Amino acid sequence: MEKAQCRYCPADAIYTRGHEGASFCSKCFRKAVEERVRRTVTENDMLKFNDHIAVAVSGGKDSLTLLNLLVKMENRFPRSKITAVSVDEGIRGYRDEALDIARKACEKLCVEQFVVSYHDLFGITTDEIAGMHLGQTPCSHCGVFRRKAINRAAQMVGATKIATAHNLDDEVQTVLLNMLHGDPWRIVRSGPVLHDPRGKFLTRIKPLCDIPEKEVVLYAYLNGFDFQSITCPHGNAALRNDIRNFLNQLDQKHPGSKFTLQRTAERLRELLSQTAPVAELNECAKCGDPTPHQLCEACMMLDAIAA
Ligand SMILES: [Zn+2]
Ligand SMILES: [Zn+2]
Repeated sequence: MEKAQCRYCPADAIYTRGHEGASFCSKCFRKAVEERVRRTVTENDMLKFNDHIAVAVSGGKDSLTLLNLLVKMENRFPRSKITAVSVDEGIRGYRDEALDIARKACEKLCVEQFVVSYHDLFGITTDEIAGMHLGQTPCSHCGVFRRKAINRAAQMVGATKIATAHNLDDEVQTVLLNMLHGDPWRIVRSGPVLHDPRGKFLTRIKPLCDIPEKEVVLYAYLNGFDFQSITCPHGNAALRNDIRNFLNQLDQKHPGSKFTLQRTAERLRELLSQTAPVAELNECAKCGDPTPHQLCEACMMLDAIAA
């Protein structure tokens, strides 16, 4: 079989985009990913020339790709700053390895890394929560704690924005997950930019939200990034896993489905945001963080664990 040629140069192609049929050589593929991320950042007005971005870096392929891309982009803006923030959830044999990979990547890029731990912030680790056998997996606790830990870390380093490495697959999975949970308002509170109109939370941006997961993997691999490839020993939330498999099958049979779902979510967001209630925020009675309730979600979970 004859090898396909790159659409943009005479080199042999190494990858074909199912949804648009275009083939790319290694160099042109990397350029295409970088251009797409730049476009996402510009179209969504994600960055200002003097932002201090806290990049959530776990040591996985997504976060290392994001960190490398943002460092490349911010080189042109001398008044901007990047700090990597990493969270140690306390998962032995897993997070310690990833943190080490993240540390080395930061050193290579000359980016400062700031690490916060569940142990220090919440007095408990994910391994300890898993050992209590509260539910099927400790993922629900871990997700809430991680969000809070990243917020804390970003505030501690004085960041003006938080960048997370959610890719297209993550975003579409979350939309379907919210639908299956019967929570349409959560769709409003998702998307490429999460801006709190009350100004109580730092703005969160997701520059990789238009890049499919398999392209992030390929980009990381072609650039020779060292990244953690083992999965969390506590497993993944079962429903999200089923949605992931379903979406991959769908996209294989009907290329472009993930993009279509994302565009649909974007329209829903626009429509729903006009009627979505904006809850008033109180200060959490325990930790002082903004919350629509008496206690924030993390403190409620910690109370339930202690009970
Ligand atoms: Zn090429
Ligand atoms: Zn709290």
